[in-house]
Amino acid sequence: MSPRWTLALPLAAALVGAAALLPGCFAEAPVAQAATKPNVILILVDTFRADKIGTYGYTKRKTTPNLDAFASGAMVWDNAYSQDAWTVPSVASLFTGVDPQGHLCLNFRQGEKLATDTISDSQDTLAESFKAGGYTTAAFIKSTVISTSHGYSQGFDQFNIVGGADQAWGHSAKDLNDAAIPWLTTQVKSGKPFYAYLHFMDPHSPYKAPEPWYSKYKGSYTGPMDGAHVQLEDAFKAGKVTAADWERELSLYDSEVEYWDTEFGRLWGELQKAGAASNTVVVLVADHGEAFGEHNNVFHGNLYGENIHIPVMVRGPGVKAGRMKAYGQLIDVPPTLAEMTGLQKGKNWQGKSMVTAMGGGAGHTDVIYSEYAGQRMVIDPASGLKLIVGDGATKLFDIKADPLEKTNLAESRASDVTRLRAALDARQAAGVAIGKGAGKGKAEAMSADQCEMLKSLGYLEPDAPCTGAVKNDDDGDGK
Ligand SMILES: [Zn+2]
Repeated sequence: MSPRWTLALPLAAALVGAAALLPGCFAEAPVAQAATKPNVILILVDTFRADKIGTYGYTKRKTTPNLDAFASGAMVWDNAYSQDAWTVPSVASLFTGVDPQGHLCLNFRQGEKLATDTISDSQDTLAESFKAGGYTTAAFIKSTVISTSHGYSQGFDQFNIVGGADQAWGHSAKDLNDAAIPWLTTQVKSGKPFYAYLHFMDPHSPYKAPEPWYSKYKGSYTGPMDGAHVQLEDAFKAGKVTAADWERELSLYDSEVEYWDTEFGRLWGELQKAGAASNTVVVLVADHGEAFGEHNNVFHGNLYGENIHIPVMVRGPGVKAGRMKAYGQLIDVPPTLAEMTGLQKGKNWQGKSMVTAMGGGAGHTDVIYSEYAGQRMVIDPASGLKLIVGDGATKLFDIKADPLEKTNLAESRASDVTRLRAALDARQAAGVAIGKGAGKGKAEAMSADQCEMLKSLGYLEPDAPCTGAVKNDDDGDGK
C-alpha cells in the first residue's frame, strides 16, 4: 500500500517553548494541555550495529555524517542493548515494553501452518499510550516481518506498509521517506501532537544499496560476493569466505548504512525546515546488530555484542546533548518517552525511564536482559559482567575490559556465574509471568509473496514451503 496524503492542516499559531519540556517537568504538565506535549518520532533502523556508526567510534569509512551531526545534539546511550537478536521479538519488545517471554512474539511457524507470532491485544503498547494521551499516531514500515504481524498496529491511527519493490535493498529508505516526510512535516506545522514510528530496513541483508553507493568501496575486489543473503550464508557454512570476501561484505554493509544516512539527512533536514526542532523529540534505535564472522556467526543469531549492542539517540527540546554511560535497553524507551511526555505507562512495562540517567543521574541497578532462541543473557550494570547461557554452554565476559568478548571467565569466576544466573532466572521468570497473564496473540497467516520475500531476506530456509499450505493458526496454539 502506498499512502497518499491530501490533508493540508493549518500552520500552528505558536509552537511550545522548550522550558516546559525539561526532563522531569513532564509529570507535572497537565495532560489535557495538548499544546504542551512534544511530538515524538521514533526511528528504528533494522540491523544497525552500534560500532559501525561514527558516533560510536567507527572510523574505517565515514558512512554516517548526517547521523553523527544529529547525534552531536542528542543524548547518546553508549551502552544500550536490544531484548532479542532478530526483528520480530525485538520490535515487539520496543512496542510493548516487555521482554520476549512477556509478549511471546517469538517464531514463524513453518510447515503446514506458516504464520507469524504477533502481539496480544491485552498488551499495552507504546502507541496505545500515545493515543490515549491525545496524540495522532502513525507508522511507516519497511519490514516484511512487521507487516505480516498486524498486532503491531495496536494504537496506530494509520499503519502504512510502504510499497515499492525494494524492501531491504535499492531505494528502500527513499521509498519510506517519500511516504513519511509529507505527513510528518504537515503534522509538525499543525501544532497538534503526534507520534510517528518509522522502520527503515536498509542495513539488513541483502547488502545491495543503490548506485553509486553499491560500487563505492569495491576497489580492486574481483571475487564472487555481491551482497546476496543466501550467497553469503552458503559460503559461510562451507567455510569458503575469504578475507577479501569479508572485506567486500563489510563494505557493502557500510554502503547500505551510507545510503541510509543520506536519506536520514534528507529526513532530518525536512523536519528542521518544518520547525520540528522546537517541539519534537526524535529517537533513533535499532532492533539488533549484525555479525560478520565474529564468534563464528553471520547475520544475527546470538547474544554477543555485535548482535545486541544497539544505538540509541534521543534529541529534542529539553534533552541535553551528551553521552549516557548508564546501561540501557530497548524496553527502557517506552517508559522514557512516557515520562518525557506525561503519558500513562503500560501495566506490564518492565523497562525503566532513563530521563534521570540522561541527566547524569542513576541508571539501572537490575540486570540488562536479552534472549535469542534458546540462549539468554544478562549484563550486571555494576560490574560490567555479562553472562550468556544456552545450548549447553555458560559464558562470562567482562565487557568493560574485554568488549569483543574473547575471554570466557566462567570457570575462573564461578561465584559471579552463580550470582548472575540467579538474576537471569529471576528476570526470565518475570517475563514468563507477564506472558502467562497477557496470553499469546493470534498468529497471522503469511502470504506466498511474503514467504518468498522472507526467504530472500534469510528469515526462512530456502526450502520452506510457500505454497499450498499457508493458512492461519486460528487458535494460536502453533499446531
Ligand atoms: Zn531486524
